[in-house]
Amino acid sequence: MTKTFQIAVFEGDGIGPEIMAPTVDLLSALAKASDAYELTFHTVNAGAQHYADTGVSLPARSLETARKADAILLSAMGLPSIRYPDGTEISPQIELRKALHLFAGVRPVRITPGQPTPLKLADDKIVDFVLIRESTEGLFYSQGSRDVRGDEAYETLRITRDTSEKLFRFALKLAQQRKTKGRGPGRVTCVDKANVFSAFAFFREIFDAEAAKYPDLTADHAYVDATALWMVEKPWTFDVMVTENMFGDILSDLGAGLMGGLGLAPSADIGEHHALFQPCHGSAPDIAGQGLANPFAMILSAAMMLDWLGEQHGVAAMCADAARLQAAVDEAIRTRDTVTRDLGGTASTKGAVAALSGKLL
Ligand code: NAD
Repeated sequence: MTKTFQIAVFEGDGIGPEIMAPTVDLLSALAKASDAYELTFHTVNAGAQHYADTGVSLPARSLETARKADAILLSAMGLPSIRYPDGTEISPQIELRKALHLFAGVRPVRITPGQPTPLKLADDKIVDFVLIRESTEGLFYSQGSRDVRGDEAYETLRITRDTSEKLFRFALKLAQQRKTKGRGPGRVTCVDKANVFSAFAFFREIFDAEAAKYPDLTADHAYVDATALWMVEKPWTFDVMVTENMFGDILSDLGAGLMGGLGLAPSADIGEHHALFQPCHGSAPDIAGQGLANPFAMILSAAMMLDWLGEQHGVAAMCADAARLQAAVDEAIRTRDTVTRDLGGTASTKGAVAALSGKLL
């Protein structure tokens, strides 16, 4: 029986619409070729340009469509030239994480053969780990509530037991799934700064209590500063890492750097009832409108969406299509066949996606 899924689509700002349109075309073609699933796309407004045009960054109707959807696909939002009166940027992607309680920011870091990594890796060193960034609280908690008192400015870092328990359970279950699939030893590392901050000692205590319920896994800790070093020195030793919002924000860009740049780094923001999939990169205003944007991070995020929907709803064909998409991107990176300028090629955004379509359909 064919299952139909409703997908909310945020095209975003800058290069957002350029990478989203061919991704939606590719997903539509994959679904059309399958008798197991159908995808219906609902494009909704939000973002910096929308704020400039209307004074609203995330309309209530867009949030409602996202809330009702089976999954949300988002490209990138924000433009440095468009800001709120307090000087901060328009970032509906962060509002969505809070509104839909998407606490687990999933940032896979994989280095496949031929990937343009700055690391010198021996053949037996496989880099394939996942960074889980808490995405609703931490140092992002007081975002939007300006607290500047004369010559001093304050932000609040918030860690709650409820969200931390959900976050750690998510990370531990992911490590179990990866172990079952032969993709990791079943190890979860809690990344914190518990040597200095009591909030992180609290975070660590909750981690230890949750991890004790998973005797089949190894649970350990690392300080965030050492983790940044080890991600460069010995990234193959990690399996699943779990950390606070701001630390995860920074470490995930380091992970993207190891993978050869933001154009190759996908992500998902997952909660108990909703899930959003988007590339790690921003709206890249410096290359917008020129057809230069690498679509692979967007496409790999779409593959994560297919896999997540397939797992949640028991549609094996979706997981299989996700794996095929991933393999097609891996192959394009390995051979540098029809890739964009950031990967050393000359293909346009549309050309890079058309080449993938040609292989898959
Ligand atoms: P950025 O990720 O947009 O760009 C950083 C650099 O990477 C630029 O040189 C850009 O050209 C390049 N780049 C990024 N994506 C690329 C792609 N797909 N293909 C080829 N090159 C790519 O980061 P930034 O310049 O710091 O931010 C630009 C805007 O995006 C800002 O307004 C920022 O707030 C916003 N932003 C949004 C998100 C999001 O939507 N999740 C994330 C980060 C930044």
